[in-house]
Amino acid sequence: MTPTGADGTQGPAWSPHTLEGAGTGPLEIGGAKVGEGARTDLQLQVSESYTGDRTSLPVTVVNGVRPGPLLFVTAAVHGDELNGIAIVREVLARVEPADLSGALMCVPVVNVLGVQFHSRYLPDRRDLNRCFPGSASGSTAGRIAHALMTEIIGRCDAGIDLHTAANRRMNVPQIRCSLHDERAFALGMAFGAPFIIEAARRPGSLRDAAAAEGVPVLTFEGGEALRFEQDVIAVGTAGVLRVMGALGMLEDAPPPPAVAVVTSDETHWIRADRGGILHLHVGAGEHVAQDQPLWTVTGPFGRERSQTHSPYSGVVIGMTTLPLVNPGDAVVHLALPGEHAASSINEPLIDEPSDEEDADRADEDEDEDRT
Ligand SMILES: [Zn+2]
Repeated sequence: MTPTGADGTQGPAWSPHTLEGAGTGPLEIGGAKVGEGARTDLQLQVSESYTGDRTSLPVTVVNGVRPGPLLFVTAAVHGDELNGIAIVREVLARVEPADLSGALMCVPVVNVLGVQFHSRYLPDRRDLNRCFPGSASGSTAGRIAHALMTEIIGRCDAGIDLHTAANRRMNVPQIRCSLHDERAFALGMAFGAPFIIEAARRPGSLRDAAAAEGVPVLTFEGGEALRFEQDVIAVGTAGVLRVMGALGMLEDAPPPPAVAVVTSDETHWIRADRGGILHLHVGAGEHVAQDQPLWTVTGPFGRERSQTHSPYSGVVIGMTTLPLVNPGDAVVHLALPGEHAASSINEPLIDEPSDEEDADRADEDEDEDRT
């Protein structure tokens, strides 16, 4: 695979095939052994409940028959983000130990407590994706993070963390990673989602903690919370399998997507300037020109209050799904394809609310940039 940059130039020289094969022989995870050529479902104990029951994470390990890289796939770190659970299932249905080089470690439900209540958070309102790398003596969130880091993430060569947009928003399927990390960028291009977006590492996130251990992680964002969306699941499933192909783990990975991957290192949320009822004029994935009308806000009697035009030429990579807005609400998330001034990448943008690891609206009021 030769990654191609946004401007059509050849990408980094690093190739996923340069990874050392590490998946040789039996694996031991949380005290459970997974032999070569075996697939095992196990429970990784992380904490205890009020009633003294074990709190444990479901883990499926597929250990191949040949040496190769170790890849982890995690889903539902935010307990209301469900598409990734289905993606893990679809991937596991297509991977047999006999066809595999290296090993695949899947955690289909990381936030096992949040998912019980359809919640992004843990019961104590902690955002698990701000609690990495965690600690063996910490809170439940810290213990979940620590167990994942020590038993799975820290020993892998690469990983994919599956997310959706936060409640009342949707994301077009996209990869978020550091475009300047040549390993992550190469794997992100191999994934083949329609978009690959520069995303700064957020302290306490799984991706940040993994990167500190030298493990490149792709964050996949696709669809809405609390739904199974077949089109998103298909993109995510093919993407994970393509990454496995690029790593040399699978021989019959899906072919690259027919449509070229769009890279972007600059995104902006466009916000409502008036409160009222929202009428969007653009759709998910749509290319918009500068000054093109994005939406109209009307009052309760239907009279137009304002129309918002796009300040940029870009592509809609996310949007609200709630047809009601207050002034200042984030409505449309635009990616500007291509490479832009470095100064615009790393500075926190005042118009950037939450997305990859997003806060819900109540928390945005507390802390706009808490994502
Ligand atoms: Zn998430």
